[in-house]
Amino acid sequence: MGNERSYKGSCFCGAVQFTVTGEPVAMGYCHCGSCRHWSAGPVNAFTLWQPSAVRFVQGEQNIGTYNKTPGSSRKWCKSCGGHIFTEHPSWNLTDVYAATIPDFQFKPGVHVHYQETVLRMKDGLPKQKDVPKEMGGSGVLLPE
Ligand SMILES: [Zn+2]
Ligand SMILES: [Zn+2]
Repeated sequence: MGNERSYKGSCFCGAVQFTVTGEPVAMGYCHCGSCRHWSAGPVNAFTLWQPSAVRFVQGEQNIGTYNKTPGSSRKWCKSCGGHIFTEHPSWNLTDVYAATIPDFQFKPGVHVHYQETVLRMKDGLPKQKDVPKEMGGSGVLLPE
């Protein structure tokens, strides 16, 4: 554990500061309607971590939570409204938005919920119709 690298992250205004340590379980892009509506962007660049890899440096009390569904606790900063991460308790994983951890090199490996896409991305990576089988999805792949 001692030699695992940590990366600094923050909300848009900096009131909330945190670190992620080690390597994420998965990285990629989510095209689902919920991510688009919440982020107000066409895709969500996600990095999925074990919850224990995410540690707060300051401002934890400044985080708001919204649950549209029990599977996603969406977190944002109460000062700037900037999105920070989404907890997925049923997977025991935390999606730290790639844009909040600029020092960490984002290396996407997969696209999920591609059946809902509004922005096709022809990057050669696998396009999951929903999510992989091991995460409770169909595992079906779609053309780019
Ligand atoms: Zn903020
Ligand atoms: Zn999504």
